[in-house]
Amino acid sequence: MIPSVLPTYTRAPLTFVKGEGSWLIEADGRRMLDMGGGIAVNALGHANPALLDALTSQAQNLWHTSNLYHIPQQQALADKLVDATFADTVFFTNSGTESCELAVKMARKYWFDKGDVDRTEIITFDGSFHGRSAAGISAAGSEKMTKGFGPILGGFVHLPWEDLDAISNAITDKTAAILLEPVQGEGGIRPLPDATLKAIRGLCDENGILLILDEIQCGVGRTGKLFAHEWAGITPDIMMVAKGIGGGFPLGAVLATESAASGMTVGTHGSTYGGNPLGCAVGCAVMDIVATPEFLAEVNRKAGLLRQKLEGLVASHPDVFDSVRGSGLMLGLKCKALNMDVVNAGYDALVITVPAADNVVRLLPPLNLSDEEITEAIARLDTAATKIEAA
Ligand SMILES: *Cc1c(COP(=O)(O)O)cnc(C)c1O
Repeated sequence: MIPSVLPTYTRAPLTFVKGEGSWLIEADGRRMLDMGGGIAVNALGHANPALLDALTSQAQNLWHTSNLYHIPQQQALADKLVDATFADTVFFTNSGTESCELAVKMARKYWFDKGDVDRTEIITFDGSFHGRSAAGISAAGSEKMTKGFGPILGGFVHLPWEDLDAISNAITDKTAAILLEPVQGEGGIRPLPDATLKAIRGLCDENGILLILDEIQCGVGRTGKLFAHEWAGITPDIMMVAKGIGGGFPLGAVLATESAASGMTVGTHGSTYGGNPLGCAVGCAVMDIVATPEFLAEVNRKAGLLRQKLEGLVASHPDVFDSVRGSGLMLGLKCKALNMDVVNAGYDALVITVPAADNVVRLLPPLNLSDEEITEAIARLDTAATKIEAA
């Protein structure tokens, strides 16, 4: 008999009833160190007082009106994002994949309005992940996500990751945009070198096409800059955001330049819940904390500490781990043992990590975890690795 919850996930035998900072707590009081952060969502940990206050005070006043009316919290968050980034304008969604839907629509409409109606193709990359909507799975293109769901949305050209020549050869008069994650998340924490991202921006400029960045996982302070593309000294035309921006409340956004967004006029897009007062009040509180030089400097310092200790962990368990990779507090342990065995041994050692493709274990902790929690995470991962060696 089918379970009452549609069984699309393999779930770990863990049930949490409370969260506190970097910790998740089960009903029996068992505390686990959360180095997964709800897959880069709980950017400021669980039950962060500033976020809790933003959400509960808004909840006392107003939950939902409609985008038929002005929403001051939405306006405030849009202003903060525009002030802090390349963007001139923002549309709010409730999830990452909805941001992908709009980014694709926006790029196509841009060319349609220019009279270039056949310029509909979007170049994407192997190992990418853009969510589970029709556009999201079509953009990523992997058989794992698309099989059985055809006909998939057309107009995506899939190329190998990090191959500049392949990109240059694939650009035609049908190319509307290039879409990529500056650091692939689900694909196994695979950062694009800064020079490659710069070169891709160059190719977009030479050919007049749009650069769309999916910063849903790597954005909002995760890599130690507010957005990961800042490391390469470039800006996109369109950017997808979600996960960390809501700190655990469902919230996403599409940021764009005035030019890239020029086709999205009245009536061309909408959302019932996107930009609702609750989500945007929380988003404002997240931005007020994360988008400051002091906070980002601390992310970089802690990232350095965690990475250094992870290198030590890899060195002491050469049969379990191969190497450390990633950027900021978006780190991956490339494993020699099965990554799922490492994740499961971590559960036994009371530390939560997240598997990714390419036999990688991801660490996406709250950005404000403490130095002591970093030390504790390494001790617990060491216990997990020792257990695998003994098996
Ligand atoms: C999580 C994720 C998405 C999808 O976001 P949802 O909120 O699950 O729809 C898209 N792109 C990237 C890079 C992600 O990490």
